[in-house]
Amino acid sequence: MGSWHMYWQRKNHIPKKLCSQLPCYDSFAIFKENLLFLNDHCNRVYARLENDGFRGSCAGWPFFLSVSKQPCHFGGFRYFFHCTNCGTRMRKVYLYRGHFECRKCLNLGYTSQRLKPSDRFLETMHKLRGSLIYKNGGFENTDKRPRGMWSRTYKRITSRMDKLYWKSSMALYLRYSDIRNDEAFQDIFEPARQRAQRV
Ligand SMILES: [Zn+2]
Repeated sequence: MGSWHMYWQRKNHIPKKLCSQLPCYDSFAIFKENLLFLNDHCNRVYARLENDGFRGSCAGWPFFLSVSKQPCHFGGFRYFFHCTNCGTRMRKVYLYRGHFECRKCLNLGYTSQRLKPSDRFLETMHKLRGSLIYKNGGFENTDKRPRGMWSRTYKRITSRMDKLYWKSSMALYLRYSDIRNDEAFQDIFEPARQRAQRV
């Protein structure tokens, strides 16, 4: 079998646009700061919070972005936007051609969905590692358990990181199927394959 790239090319597949390519409005971030105005000079969005949503103009055209309030489990409220196309309650809406629509209506994908499996596993591993470094006060010493973290939790995180690393090796091993059969690389790939199978 050829590469996946060739496969999709033959199928005339058009990759999804990414969330990161469109301006995004996150209701949690906006209401965390208790913003009464939505001012985005780059995209010429100017709106004011009214009873049930933001009313204003986008590039000179009027718009209304509905907001709903949901009670939280432990008191307080959370605010959500409603997609202007399908009306679904959403935390994030994306600005496209003057409309604030959800990820599903705009058929957007996440960056991680574009990554190859080997890179995706590594990215998750680095995210976990980053959070451990952060909890250790910014020191790059992940061997140490952060203060206040249960040893059981720490063990779970580190073992997950280990698994992700070997899964990534395994995905890489499968990607380079032609090298895989090369005798010269057996001593590198064989242990990785065995470990990835075990986890
Ligand atoms: Zn929608």
